[in-house]
Amino acid sequence: MTSVTPAPATQDLIAASDAHSAHNYHPLPVVVATAEGAWMTDVEGRRYLDMLAGYSALNFGHGNRRLIDAAKAQLERVTLTSRAFHHDRFAAFCTQLAELCGKEMVLPMNTGAEAVETAVKTARKWGYRVKGVPDGRARIVVASDNFHGRTTTIVSFSTDPEARADYGPYTPGFDIVPYGDLDALRAAVTDETVAVLLEPIQGEAGVLVPPPGYLPGVRELTRERGVLFIADEIQSGLGRTGKTFACEHEGVVPDVYVLGKALGGGVVPVSAVVADRDVLGVFRPGEHGSTFGGNPLACAVGLEVIAMLREGEYQQRAAELGEHLHAELRLLAGAGKVSAVRGRGLWAGVDIDPAYGTGREISEKLLERGVLVKDTHGSTIRIAPPLVISKEDLDWGLDQLRAVLGA
Ligand SMILES: *Cc1c(COP(=O)(O)O)cnc(C)c1O
Repeated sequence: MTSVTPAPATQDLIAASDAHSAHNYHPLPVVVATAEGAWMTDVEGRRYLDMLAGYSALNFGHGNRRLIDAAKAQLERVTLTSRAFHHDRFAAFCTQLAELCGKEMVLPMNTGAEAVETAVKTARKWGYRVKGVPDGRARIVVASDNFHGRTTTIVSFSTDPEARADYGPYTPGFDIVPYGDLDALRAAVTDETVAVLLEPIQGEAGVLVPPPGYLPGVRELTRERGVLFIADEIQSGLGRTGKTFACEHEGVVPDVYVLGKALGGGVVPVSAVVADRDVLGVFRPGEHGSTFGGNPLACAVGLEVIAMLREGEYQQRAAELGEHLHAELRLLAGAGKVSAVRGRGLWAGVDIDPAYGTGREISEKLLERGVLVKDTHGSTIRIAPPLVISKEDLDWGLDQLRAVLGA
């Protein structure tokens, strides 16, 4: 049994973090010591089912043998060369990632935000060099309620006051339209628009799936207007939704994929922008870069991630278990316990009836029952366990949710 009040050792560790780290997060009161598969163990030895999976960075589970072995082997060889020199994992990583995406070129970075920044720079440079937009005039259309990362440029086009306030002056050049509204998007595109940047499913917004036909409509519009369609698949991509990319559900191929999170297998930060030569070919030496981007350790882990995705087993698990998860959540909705359920594959946003508490309160009650989830925007919780979770464990997690909701 878990208790409401954390044990003294846990309390001490939390107090020490509170005292000496910036309070830019409000973690649940659990201190993790070890983890394996879909389970984490805290410093008291209590086990928790991880239903967040590091915001989908841990799609392949904690301590995945193949990823840990790949990392260990590379640790013994070479970990960093900088891009001043070639290293022997780089070509394979770029070739195989490009192939997985059906594209020609890869620009590796580290974090998701860096990859989004890279996509913004790519689109602007492409706009000036290829499309012929007058210097300094390039514009990028984005969606309301987006989440693309935390840098100053990215928060400049956030509509979330918490993420954006007090960080001005803001980077200009972005137009924000309502997510899912094709007419609004069409009206926002001008001759100076170089790109439309979207999440094919909005993760942080609460796992919002756009209306059917929206992504194909965006594809058609951007093609007609000579605008790049940039899909931020950092959270939606790499198996989570039951396919390699969320765009695939709508038969859409964007011009540019932005990838991160699961690309590093939860071991190291690995991100990338992937596109054809006519787009990523705009960069010349010295015009963009990163000390750690595409380092040997990142490439070795990324290569193993790509190998696992090529086998298709994780996508299939996400599709099958996802169908089960959504069927169970629909029953809860039918019983009036939750007001809405959204998502695709092993990924769900669940709006809890506020009568049962805020998303935070529900998360704390689930923690007491040994399930770790994260709330977002008031009364919504997200469910996104590692794709390696067993059906039995998923059912057990759902049992705990039902118990918390008195179902
Ligand atoms: C997490 C996330 C990012 C930012 O990634 P970081 O690695 O945290 O910088 C960008 N876009 C989407 C859709 C994300 O979910």
